[in-house]
Amino acid sequence: MTNQNILLKFTAKNDFRFHLEHICKNGNYLYATDGAICVRMADDGSEPTPLQGDVHTEKLSKYIDDWLEKESENQNLSPLVFDVPRRVECLNCDEDGLIHEGDRCYTCGDCDGSKLVYPERAQSLCGKNFQTKYIAKLSKLPNIKFGLSQNCGRDGMAYFTFDGGQGVLMHTGRTAYC
Ligand SMILES: [Zn+2]
Repeated sequence: MTNQNILLKFTAKNDFRFHLEHICKNGNYLYATDGAICVRMADDGSEPTPLQGDVHTEKLSKYIDDWLEKESENQNLSPLVFDVPRRVECLNCDEDGLIHEGDRCYTCGDCDGSKLVYPERAQSLCGKNFQTKYIAKLSKLPNIKFGLSQNCGRDGMAYFTFDGGQGVLMHTGRTAYC
């Protein structure tokens, strides 16, 4: 799997903001975010460069770089253990994983079009709740390590690293989520 293939899993779906829907490049790095999770990987030049971003991309990448710079000293990370036994049928979308509203048709954000959702929508890790769909995606990354942010200044934000990249994830901000 290429870096860009990995990053595409973390871009926003059905969001009209360019910098959230696309992988963006700034300097030597590629970035993906949907607003709740941000992932950065090096651009090794082995794939065609994605679309150059706009002014928001530049701002966003500086923001993420700043976070990751501070967190790079964070030694308090552990391998991410995730054990979800099952997924259930999504009730929000049709057989294609699509939602139809009048003339508009878009990919279901709950299941990303897979038609399957995790019944437990949040996972408790390090004493905070994080959306299961993100933890599931992160658990597939090679050598994923995860812990609470030490330096981001936002209570309960997580910091993670994996082979070839790193990122931050917002918690759900709730003690219970269903
Ligand atoms: Zn769905």
